[in-house]
Amino acid sequence: MFVSGGVVTGSIDTRPARVAAIRDALARADLDALLVSSLANVRYVTGFSGSNALLVITAKDCILLTDSRYATQVEEEVDGAATVRIESTNLWTGLWAQLGTLTSVERIGFESMHCLHCDFARLLEKGARWSWRPTTDVVETLRAVKDAGELAHIERAVAVAETALRRTVPMLRAGLTETAVAGVLEGHLRDAGSEAFPFPSIVASGPRSALPHARAGDRVLKTGDLVLLDFGAVTAGYCSDITRTFVLGRASDEQREIYDIVREANARASGAIRVGMTGMAADAVARDYIAGRGFGEAFGHSLGHGIGLEVHEAPRLSRVVESPLAAGSVVTIEPGIYRPGWGGVRIEDDVFLSDAGPRVLTGFPRDLHELS
Ligand code: ZN
Ligand code: ZN
Repeated sequence: MFVSGGVVTGSIDTRPARVAAIRDALARADLDALLVSSLANVRYVTGFSGSNALLVITAKDCILLTDSRYATQVEEEVDGAATVRIESTNLWTGLWAQLGTLTSVERIGFESMHCLHCDFARLLEKGARWSWRPTTDVVETLRAVKDAGELAHIERAVAVAETALRRTVPMLRAGLTETAVAGVLEGHLRDAGSEAFPFPSIVASGPRSALPHARAGDRVLKTGDLVLLDFGAVTAGYCSDITRTFVLGRASDEQREIYDIVREANARASGAIRVGMTGMAADAVARDYIAGRGFGEAFGHSLGHGIGLEVHEAPRLSRVVESPLAAGSVVTIEPGIYRPGWGGVRIEDDVFLSDAGPRVLTGFPRDLHELS
């Protein structure tokens, strides 16, 4: 069995356990209810993938509000996992009405990372009869630990992305614009089964490969260029995120040297990451190696991030994260070296972390690939 919300795999519906875990967290925080406004969190708890929703979870109730555009979709996706209310005017108007029917609900947590100021003002004005408490990461903490069904969706998203890359690489050649390459890649992603793109695919060539978050532009690929592709697929709502860097033609000694350092940093981090290690310690494995080779200043971003329903989610592998990595995390490992005006190299893999150790989900070769 399979539903588009990505929460039902085989015969096990994981949503009741997620709601139960949130109720435990509410009890520990002395809250009567949680107002969920993050759409990714709504999807995680209920399976609903629409673009307009509020969710209220209490010790007894789980009420999902959305609008009439989603009347059919919400019933299919939620399928009894929450009580659905279709609002014809405004979700917030509906929220006050629903909360008014709930007895013994006084202290309500809201997601402070996902509450616009205009909505916060609503809580203080229209919602003044309840006591609102800011919360962070109640649902995100659960999402950081993937269950077997979620891991299977991510593995599928990795496979789709790698199929698309295998089909795209033979078509890379001088004379194409970055945008045209992105079009070829994204066409193959769709053909292979990707339901969306987790972010605009990055195709960065020549000096532009030194821009870690470049968008594909109108630059024309030239022989001798570094060509960096950073992209992903989405299946059942779950993302993959992969980067490979190629050389168009024969690599120069300098390109080869930089590439080999990044590849070694990637391999060291992917092999060393463990449950219980802090995000800071994981980051340091790659960073210390790159710094030791003399390019510390050229690796400005973090080593990696969790992937799941969002392409950037918990946990983070960065210089400032002191929390330990949990078993069941799926993270990216993406060291890079960027030299303005010259170019850059990044190699990004997706890694599942269990008590048995790391398992690299991405299998696309990491050897320096000179495109003929
Ligand atoms: Zn990426
Ligand atoms: Zn990434």
